[in-house]
Amino acid sequence: MEFEPIEIEGDIIAGPCSAESREQVVNTALALSRQGIKTYRAGLWKPRTKPGGFEGVGSIGIPWLLEAKKLTGMRVATEVATRAHVLECIVAGIDIFWIGARTTANPFAVQEIADTIAETGKDVTVMVKNPVNPDIDLWIGGIERLYNAGIHKLAAIHRGFSSYGEKIYRNPPQWSIPTELRQRLPGLPIICDPSHIGGSRDLIAPLSQQAYNLGFNKLIIECHCHPEDALSDSRQQITPEELGRLIQNLKQRSSEDAGDEIGMLRNEMDMKDAELIDILSQRMAISRQIGEYKKSHNITVFQNDRYKQLMDSRVKTGHEMGMSADFVKKLYSLIHEESVRQQLEI
Ligand code: PEP
Ligand code: MN
Repeated sequence: MEFEPIEIEGDIIAGPCSAESREQVVNTALALSRQGIKTYRAGLWKPRTKPGGFEGVGSIGIPWLLEAKKLTGMRVATEVATRAHVLECIVAGIDIFWIGARTTANPFAVQEIADTIAETGKDVTVMVKNPVNPDIDLWIGGIERLYNAGIHKLAAIHRGFSSYGEKIYRNPPQWSIPTELRQRLPGLPIICDPSHIGGSRDLIAPLSQQAYNLGFNKLIIECHCHPEDALSDSRQQITPEELGRLIQNLKQRSSEDAGDEIGMLRNEMDMKDAELIDILSQRMAISRQIGEYKKSHNITVFQNDRYKQLMDSRVKTGHEMGMSADFVKKLYSLIHEESVRQQLEI
């Protein structure tokens, strides 16, 4: 695939998760423009996991985005999921579209969007978020559907992947997937979405720096003038002033650093370690739940049969994946020891 340059100005796309009112859209845009932002995002139709949440203002928000565009000169972007969304936005003059994670997971919907854009003959930029599940072929498939329909101004957005249970990140990143995407689709810009990966304000700056270090071209960050009052994703939005400070503190890697393969690999390793610790803490949480059960049913904490069976199966799997039996044994006896300690504390 031969991609054409995308029409996204600046390194950072920013704006609220959702357009909520004319004032909110216009005021946030003005404040972001003062921070030097040149591309503005706001969702009009919000795909909510459960019914009953704020599902977006819909088409009545289109003129608000156009007003923000007129007042600031920024390019404006919104999410589209259906033929009707595309038609309304394209006719009105919205510049850039993104396909949400839940939509990328649905090939029928992506095809419908691709065909509708092609039908209008408009040469718009489309950003394709990764699907909710970590399936690189489904992600590439979505990009191909658009490409084959003649849309060549394309970018991918890494927004992390859904996972179950308590965790540090709302949608844990699996950096090896966008790294593979970069190899499989050279020339495709890859944007990082630290807001949806982190799910909380404090994680946005460190995730943004990690993304830069890993060579992502751009960031998309959710911003709201009053994040605590936001109607969607309020925990992960920051104010335009906070975004200004974040940008000042971001260290752009020098071109020497960017070519430093060991540096890239170390970064990837740091992130794998963060995932490892995250998974270990999830494992401990399950272990404490088992501990509660054992306590209420008068079952002893340590059970030899279970321990032996667990150890054998982990050693076997570890060995199949290229690790020595001795290492896996030592590792699991430490994990098990900590697990027993946590259960005894209950
Ligand atoms: C969004 O960008 O507000 C959004 C809904 O994102 P995602 O599709 O990544 O959940
Ligand atoms: Mn959001």
